[in-house]
Amino acid sequence: MRSGALIPLADRFGRVATDLRVSLTDRCNLRCTYCMPEEGLAWLPREQQLTDDEVIRLIRIAVERLGIREVRFTGGEPLLRRGLVGIIEAAARLTPRPTLMLTTNGIGLERLAGPLRKAGLDRVNVSLDTLDPERFQALTRRDRMADVLRGLTAAATAGLTPVKINTVLMRDINDDEAPALLRFALENGYQLRFIEQMPLDAQHQWDRHTMVTAEEILAGLAPFGLLPDPVSRGTAPAETWLVPGHVDAAGNPARVGVIGSVTRPFCGDCDRTRLTADGQVRNCLFATDESDLRKLLRDDANDDEVAEAWRVAMSGKRAGHGIDDPTFLQPARPMSAIGG
Ligand code: SAM
Ligand code: SF4
Repeated sequence: MRSGALIPLADRFGRVATDLRVSLTDRCNLRCTYCMPEEGLAWLPREQQLTDDEVIRLIRIAVERLGIREVRFTGGEPLLRRGLVGIIEAAARLTPRPTLMLTTNGIGLERLAGPLRKAGLDRVNVSLDTLDPERFQALTRRDRMADVLRGLTAAATAGLTPVKINTVLMRDINDDEAPALLRFALENGYQLRFIEQMPLDAQHQWDRHTMVTAEEILAGLAPFGLLPDPVSRGTAPAETWLVPGHVDAAGNPARVGVIGSVTRPFCGDCDRTRLTADGQVRNCLFATDESDLRKLLRDDANDDEVAEAWRVAMSGKRAGHGIDDPTFLQPARPMSAIGG
C-alpha cells in the first residue's frame, strides 16, 4: 500500500462507509427513559476519553485517507463537550471539506447555534418527543422543554438548516402526538423524522411487542394525506413522504420522515462508521465488538497504521443488525455511550 493513499472503508458486502458518527461524550443533561436510567451511568473516566487533538486527528485520517464525506457529532450530549467549537473549526478546514452535522437534545443550542455555524457546522438535528412540558419532564426526567424550543429557533436563525427534529414515539406515552408534532414542524419550517425505538436502552427494557412501528406512525399521519417522495432515498435511513399543501423554509415541498430501523431495516444501504468518545471504532450501532484506535494513537502509530486498523474494523461489518433473529444480543454499550 502506498503511504498516504486514499483507500475507502469497504466491507465484504460491497458497502462503503462515507458517513462518520463521532460521539464526543457519553454524558448527558437529560435522562430520556428509552436511553438512560434516572441515576445516569458510570461516565467514562477523563483519561479514557479522546482529547480534542485526538478526535481531530482521527477525523482528518477519516477524511484524507478513508474517504469520509459527512461527519455527524453526537453523544451523549455533544453540546456538553467543551472543545466542540474548536473541533468543528478544525474539521471544516479539512480537504475535501466534509459536511458537518450535529445531533443534540437542544439544551444550550440557544447560546451555541451562532458560534457553531460560524465554526463551520452545516446542519443540526434536535431531538424532541413531545410538545407537552409535563410529558417532556416525565420522558426526560428534566423540566427543560422551553430550552429545547429556544434552541430550535436559534438553530434556524443561525442558518443551520434544514433544521430536523428527531422523535421517538412510545406506546401510551406520546404515540398520540404524531399529528401535533408534524403540525408544529410544518408551522416552523422544521423537518420532522420519527425514529422507531431500538433495543439500545441501558436498562434493557425495550420490547418488540410494544414498540410503535413505522406502519403505526404512518397510520397516525393519515389525515395529512402524505404522498410518496419522488426523490430517491439513497443511503439515508429515513423514508420520506411529501406533505401536500405545505412547503419548507426554503420553499421546497414539505417532507416528513420515518426511520424504521427495526421493522424496515436499511442495513443493505448502510454507509456509516462510528467512533465512540473513548476512541473505539464500531462498524454498526448493534456491533458487539469494537476496535481500539485510542491505543494505537497513544502507542504512536502513524496515520497509515491507524487508517488500516479502521479499514480492517469495517471489513468485518455484518450484513444486518439481526434484531429479529432469535440469537440477537443487545450490545453491551447503550446508545448514549455509542453515539446515536
Ligand atoms: N443527546 C443527543 C440527542 O438526544 O439528540 C444525541 C445523542 S442521542 C443518543 C441521539 C438520538 O438517538 C436521539 O434522537 C434519541 O432520541 C435517539 N435515541 C436514543 N435512544 C434511542 C432508542 N433506544 N431507540 C431509538 N432512538 C433512540
Ligand atoms: Fe441524553 Fe440524547 Fe440519551 Fe436523551 S437520547 S438521555 S438527550 S443522550
